[in-house]
Amino acid sequence: MLINLQSILLINKMITNLQFKALRKFFQSYSSKIQELENYKTKFEEILKKESSPQQLDNLIDLYHEIYPVFEKELWESDYFDDMLKLYQNLFQEQELLIQESKFGSNHKKQYDFILSIPIADRPEHLRGCLESIYQLCSLYSYGGYTSSETGNGFFSKITVVIVEDSKEPQHIEKDIELALEYTQKGLRVHHYGLEEQYQLMMEIPEGIREEVSSIIGDPSTEKFFHKGQAVTRNLSYLKALQLTSLDEMPNKDDVLFYFVDSDQQFRVNRTTANGDEYVYGLNYFYYINHLFCNKDIAMLTGKLVCDPPVSPSVMSGNFLDDIIAFFEQLSEQKPEGKCHFHPVSKVKPDDAAYHDMAHLFGLGTLRKTYDYCCSMQTKHDHVACLKTFSNRINYFFFGEHLTRKTYFSHMGPFTDITPARTIYPGNYITTFDGLKYIIPFGKLRLRMSGPTAGRLIQSEIGERFASVNLPMLHARTLQSDFKDEYRPGVEDNLNHIDLTDEFERQFFGDLMLFTVVRLCKSDIDINDYNVKILSDTFAIVEEELLELYEQKHNNVLLKCDALTELLNNKKFWWNQNDELTDSMTQVHQFIKSVQYNFDEQSNAYQQIQSEQNRQTRIKKMISSLLAYRNDRDAWDKMLVLLAEKSEC
Ligand SMILES: [Zn+2]
Repeated sequence: MLINLQSILLINKMITNLQFKALRKFFQSYSSKIQELENYKTKFEEILKKESSPQQLDNLIDLYHEIYPVFEKELWESDYFDDMLKLYQNLFQEQELLIQESKFGSNHKKQYDFILSIPIADRPEHLRGCLESIYQLCSLYSYGGYTSSETGNGFFSKITVVIVEDSKEPQHIEKDIELALEYTQKGLRVHHYGLEEQYQLMMEIPEGIREEVSSIIGDPSTEKFFHKGQAVTRNLSYLKALQLTSLDEMPNKDDVLFYFVDSDQQFRVNRTTANGDEYVYGLNYFYYINHLFCNKDIAMLTGKLVCDPPVSPSVMSGNFLDDIIAFFEQLSEQKPEGKCHFHPVSKVKPDDAAYHDMAHLFGLGTLRKTYDYCCSMQTKHDHVACLKTFSNRINYFFFGEHLTRKTYFSHMGPFTDITPARTIYPGNYITTFDGLKYIIPFGKLRLRMSGPTAGRLIQSEIGERFASVNLPMLHARTLQSDFKDEYRPGVEDNLNHIDLTDEFERQFFGDLMLFTVVRLCKSDIDINDYNVKILSDTFAIVEEELLELYEQKHNNVLLKCDALTELLNNKKFWWNQNDELTDSMTQVHQFIKSVQYNFDEQSNAYQQIQSEQNRQTRIKKMISSLLAYRNDRDAWDKMLVLLAEKSEC
């Protein structure tokens, strides 16, 4: 493109007007603390001295990019986080103004558009939290800029959100539609992708292909169209995302990144402070993801979740019991009226191995046996109050809260660093159009561990083009406003019936599927050569191993329940000598009862796993799904190409 005088003048005017307030403030306030800053400052002054040109603009944009890792290191390690965070966000806003201007010059800095898909099933309040976090992220970091309009209804230029409806209740659907409107008015482009429209888009797929992909997106003739499950709903959202890229006002499919997010998550992370935990908008997801896809050959990128990782209580009971025993042992050494002692200055952050009673199955070595309870009370209090708070929350374990093992965001180096992935986090992954091929399959089997299983298959197919980045999303059960309604403490009947049978069954067979796939991927057998014999043999080996492990685990959990009960009932400890604590102790005993109810040999859960007949039925279905995988995927790929061609007409 010819660089004309007018664009040079525009650049000159822009650079003069910008003043670089944030950048200058950073140099001024932090040069004494960060050694490298002096060099960057000199570099900045030198660029400014040059004549205005698109090159000058580019150099400035790059300078911000080079400074970010230095800033981030200081931000996450220093004691002045709040001051720095505001400045950090301002730096990105400033850089974004330069990027916007650079589009008039010769060196267009590529910025992908993002289409975010959020499936929602009868939880409008989760959706609100998620949308609000996207809105905040856009406002605070300005990725892609803002398109103003004369009518006043401007919007964030590069972000589109698709709410993928999976609710049953009409009033919830109504609420989701209202939310779409509310956030559109605020400047987010939000589409509500309703049940009727899902049906119509499915019917637009030619009949033959539609039948072939029914294991992936369901069958419109039998589908109820609500509560289809996360996997099917998410896959259906691909159709809408592709349709959007065919619209005139939207970019071409090759300029779009497809971002898949769960509605109970938010675009922020947690950190610990002297005043308790806080949730912050500390990561510029869109900026870094864009950068990664522009500079590396990635088809699919995934990030983790922090705070309460969605791990089934059925594989965490043993770990949690260890932590509770440790907590009561520590309590026994403290005076009830003594100042609460469960507020460590620096918390021990759990690693991946902390989230599965059988972590060694994943090749993960457990570094610690127990994790300390970190008390969340902020006003002055004693151990009686601490114990009361703890027992009040203990049963939330069955609904996904990890009282003793919350994960925290940890800064581990530049966000431009990636590592090869082997697990896909279904609520936090991003693909190019090409990456849409790699779905999370087997949704109909309703197994847990679908992310790690899909991850292994994708990894074996595309290797390092499937990558992981340290840009986790927040999954905090306590932030979910309806969380407490699910559980009613004190209602004894309810408590006695915390039944994990379904969870257990799905976890056991999910583990069986996963470790069979792991074994198959490690062997040299090509997926096209899978047959019933190979699969049955592999399933049989893994089944035997797992059954033994599950049995050991069951016994261990029951033994731990006994140990905890003995500790609790010991009359010499102060928690048995204080009437104020009667209710609290009842809550802890109820927790143990629920665990025993589910782990006992007579429990439904255990019976389901022990039943030879149930296992055979399950394995048969898993074998058919694995055998069909390659064909299903081929049909899916064919459908994507067809839809893309159609959208380009
Ligand atoms: Zn405390």
